[in-house]
Amino acid sequence: METTANKFPQAATIALGNIAVRGAVERSTRYVTDRVSQMREEMPHYAALRQQGRGAKLRALQQLPAMLEQFEARLSANGGHTHWARDAAEANQLILEICRANHLKRGVKSKSMATEEIELVPFLEGHGIEIIETDLGEFIVQISGDRPSHIVMPVMHRPQEEILNIFREKLGMEARAETTAEEMTAFARQYLREKFLSADFGMSGGNFLIAETGSLVIITNEGNGRLSTSLPDVHIAVVGIEKIIPTWRDFATLVQLLAMSGAGQTLTVYVNIINGPKAESDEDGPSQFHLILLDNGRSQIYASEYREALACLRCGACLNVCPVYRNVGGHAYGSVYSGPIGSVVTPGLAGKEAAQYLPFASSLCGACQQACPVDIHIPDMLLRLRRDLQSAQPTHWRLGMKGWAFANRHPLLFHAGGQLAERVTRGQARRAGALKQLPPPFDRWTEQRDFPPFAPQSFRSWWQERSQKN
Ligand code: SF4
Repeated sequence: METTANKFPQAATIALGNIAVRGAVERSTRYVTDRVSQMREEMPHYAALRQQGRGAKLRALQQLPAMLEQFEARLSANGGHTHWARDAAEANQLILEICRANHLKRGVKSKSMATEEIELVPFLEGHGIEIIETDLGEFIVQISGDRPSHIVMPVMHRPQEEILNIFREKLGMEARAETTAEEMTAFARQYLREKFLSADFGMSGGNFLIAETGSLVIITNEGNGRLSTSLPDVHIAVVGIEKIIPTWRDFATLVQLLAMSGAGQTLTVYVNIINGPKAESDEDGPSQFHLILLDNGRSQIYASEYREALACLRCGACLNVCPVYRNVGGHAYGSVYSGPIGSVVTPGLAGKEAAQYLPFASSLCGACQQACPVDIHIPDMLLRLRRDLQSAQPTHWRLGMKGWAFANRHPLLFHAGGQLAERVTRGQARRAGALKQLPPPFDRWTEQRDFPPFAPQSFRSWWQERSQKN
């Protein structure tokens, strides 16, 4: 997988200086997080459902190879074609061959992270095939030459005024300053409707593959997914191998968790189930259905101690609560998969050395695991990745960590260090209420944010005093 993840330190510094983007990311993530929390509070059986979902995904991973074969057999019996792609190049080539064999020139596509991962759109465009993104967020990303910054809300980093300017410049919309989001959506709908009607093939990703019936399930909140997969004569879907689950019973659990954690809904507006091309008795629908099963590094993760990362439903909840993601946004990660789970998946797909900073882009506060609807142990995996990447860290970092570990193992030193830090910074903390400027190398922190003042009394001495009184 192509990635610029090793530019994370520089990209994060630039992102931290962009107040407009930080504001937009903060507003969007807070809005969704509030909705999700409210929904969970209203569900007394949420904890049980969550563990049921975790069990379903982990069981599915255990039987992954056999289920993929079962899926292929079922889909073939339904009249569909399964194609196996080892990597991005193979997936793109397979799609190009399907297009060439059927003289397909104009495609419409619904949202799919797998196609982002293999960079399908530029590949097809390079071979003279037009492909239009039809998810509203992805459409805005495409016409503005941008990249998605979130796995569920691709354009959440852009304030509404900016999107209005994009509509004016790229689509010729006669917009006023007070043009509403609804008016912009209606304009985009009209524009895209023409594209749907003239497309000769449709593309999609997929949220689940159901092994027992050979079905593809796409859940969305926009009707574009249904139009892309049912209106054109050929439908091609690209889905990662980890999306497979054995039964509809498991789906019933997981679909609730995905809708709730992704957008705070009981169920998404659309749940599209595709079993193959149109049957003889069907009046319409595509006459061909091709499903590309994408590996692209997933087998590597499957064979490693990070297998659990493949249980991800791609709901985005861990991104929304992550204090690092909320400050730097998705682009800084240099990968299609950003945020806490992206910091595990990207090194897994692209190689640890190609994403060596990402496992360190976390405060290890645990909010990601808490938010995850299938309880993926993200902080544990980040720690293990840090262990694996120790030797790749710069010397000053390794020495600093060794010093920190030494101080933590020697209570007197730790205590003295805490007292010294409090004394040295006391004046600044009293004047400004926080530490605005720390000396090097700690100034990297205060360049972008305040450091909270040290407590005048350490927890250790407070505890001692308390124990003596009692
Ligand atoms: S790791 Fe969990 S919370 Fe994060 S995107 Fe995946 S399913 Fe959602």
